Amino acid sequence: MRVVVAGGGGFLGSHLCEALLSRGDTVCCLDDFSSGRAANIAHLLRMPGFHCTPCDVTARFRVFGDVDAVVHLASPASPPDYQRHPLRTLAAGSRGTENLLELAVRHGARFVLASTSEVYGDPQVHPQDEDYWGHVNPIGPRSVYDEAKRYAEAVTTAYRRSRGADTGIVRIFNTYGPRMRADDGRVVSTFIRQALAGAPLTVHGDGSQTRSFCYVDDLVRGLTGMIDASHTGPFNLGNPAERTVLELAEVVLQITGSRSAVRLLPLPVDDPVRRRPVVTRAREGLGWHAEVPLEEGLRRTAEWFATQPDTLVRPPHRSTVGRLS
Ligand code: NAD
Ligand code: UDP
Repeated sequence: MRVVVAGGGGFLGSHLCEALLSRGDTVCCLDDFSSGRAANIAHLLRMPGFHCTPCDVTARFRVFGDVDAVVHLASPASPPDYQRHPLRTLAAGSRGTENLLELAVRHGARFVLASTSEVYGDPQVHPQDEDYWGHVNPIGPRSVYDEAKRYAEAVTTAYRRSRGADTGIVRIFNTYGPRMRADDGRVVSTFIRQALAGAPLTVHGDGSQTRSFCYVDDLVRGLTGMIDASHTGPFNLGNPAERTVLELAEVVLQITGSRSAVRLLPLPVDDPVRRRPVVTRAREGLGWHAEVPLEEGLRRTAEWFATQPDTLVRPPHRSTVGRLS
């Protein structure tokens, strides 16, 4: 297959490009490197079958040659990233999705949208299955991301219904692993960076909010499964093992052997209280489920972070609240 991976220079995208190349596919990566990094794909540029076109998918871009599948991962993804770039985030979900759908339709290619658990907002139903419509504040600070992805799902479905596009939607729950940016502000990268630097782990609120953390290799297997399938979805992709943020901090301290303290900070506005995927549909449709336990995934991630020059070593904050041992 010749697969276009929009956002292929990012965290998930670079792992997906690697997985596709390793099974013999040809990959055309499109990325503007706004939140991704050239270093993520530097090793792939030497491989036959890999090509990267730096471009903004919300503007005009060209893809030469055949296309069998288009995967849309191009969007700011961490809360600090998308709140810093609200209009670019909305454009990535709207114009970006439309442009990539047009590309797929032109080539008769499969289109896979990387949507998100954020379409469920701060869910009032727990755990979340795909029939839940969500609880999103349309004008809150997270809305630029949540509503962009909800629109992306809507326009993807409209292309399927009105243009006969072959589309699949996956809703990705919090995924972590090597190649996250140390400064992306997401909780796993932040805690690991802080633990390795001996700085306090910044827990928002009282840390009782939950997330379900999926290791990147598991997630990428789900993505390739959706590329190969003809299912429309949406399918939740995530690891249903739910943890509080405070539990996550404890595990990070354990596996890094760090003696960092825990510092409680205010909970951001509209921060979802809990999140856990029901993955029955992905299990039945793709034969997929997450396999890597949190401790193992965090260990692999911390080992990788420890080798990275941009894992910032910062002095510990002076005012700390509590200490986990
Ligand atoms: P990331 O920021 O590492 O990757 C996004 C990539 O898209 C970056 O390389 C960035 O430079 C590129 N990009 C952004 N806007 C672009 C544009 N207009 N044109 C071209 N390239 C553009 O984030 P990630 O975690 O790898 O997320 C990838 C996708 O998966 C995103 O769409 C995100 O919404 C989705 N997702 C991720 C998670 C997660 O936990 N990692 C969860 C839910 C959904
Ligand atoms: N979080 C935290 N400390 C941090 C960064 C994040 O406690 O330094 C919390 C955040 O408020 C949220 C959870 O961790 O409750 C997951 O945050 P992340 O940004 O990784 O993902 P999302 O909120 O998009 O699920």
